[in-house]
Amino acid sequence: MDLNLKDKVIIVTGGARGIGGGISESLAAEGAKLVIPSRPSPATEEAIAKLQEKTEVLYLPGDLTTPGICEDIINKTVEKFGAIDVLINNAGINDGCNITDSLEKFQQSLSNNLIHVFELVHYALPHLEKSQGNVINIGSKVAETGQGNATGYAAAKGALNALTREWALEFRMKNIRVNSIIPAECMTPLYENWLSTLPDPKAEEDRISGMIPLGERMTTINELADLTAFIASNRSSHTTGQILYADGGYTHLDRKCTVK
Ligand code: NAP
Repeated sequence: MDLNLKDKVIIVTGGARGIGGGISESLAAEGAKLVIPSRPSPATEEAIAKLQEKTEVLYLPGDLTTPGICEDIINKTVEKFGAIDVLINNAGINDGCNITDSLEKFQQSLSNNLIHVFELVHYALPHLEKSQGNVINIGSKVAETGQGNATGYAAAKGALNALTREWALEFRMKNIRVNSIIPAECMTPLYENWLSTLPDPKAEEDRISGMIPLGERMTTINELADLTAFIASNRSSHTTGQILYADGGYTHLDRKCTVK
């Protein structure tokens, strides 16, 4: 199936590594033009160079929590490509902000995971209206399940699900779709970092994988990326306000049937 994404201008925040990196790969394979705002690092720059062999990529290094950066990202995208067709809010981190932490840490966690989504949508809206484009938010199972030690992250990801529905409703008259894709367990640099803090990372990886109903394995980056590319495309032109779980059934299926 041709997704008709050739030459579409798509912003993928954190789109060089992990799930975002996979989304960029899937979109590049469809011929989309990419805008990738992400924190600079050698690994990110190496990934950007590889993507640039496949398609046109505007790499905008920086931290999304920096004041003014989101407006700048939208302006630079339009300057370079003249339009915005899709905004994919992927960047985020479970920063371990807990209820016992300070208000400042909680606010920082919201900045890491939520505030830049508001700002990017705010500034992108007139351009998405022109292109009849769409927004995809990458959420987390934590919004449904809780996780422990994740007060800031859960608040932000819960808000993202609520905003997906709120914006889908509000933007319907502009013909702008808004959807969420939800990962649960997917091996990425972020996930590997978390596992490496545990006493026996391999045992924990096996324990978690064993609880995932479909195939007793983690969701691959490609499985999340290809779903995201499909939702970004006009092949899903009547899908809006949806919270889609690519998680092997982990979030919703009955545990008494799956946990050994
Ligand atoms: P990842 O491996 O850390 O990749 C995310 C990329 O985004 C990294 O390159 C990171 O930069 C960048 N980034 C993060 N915050 C940023 C910021 N404030 N400004 C600029 N760049 C930023 O993470 P991932 O596991 O692929 O996660 C992607 C999304 O999926 C996140 O929203 C996460 O909450 C969600 N998610 C993931 C899982 C999972 O199992 N992996 C589960 C549930 C939800 P650095 O390289 O500098 O860190």
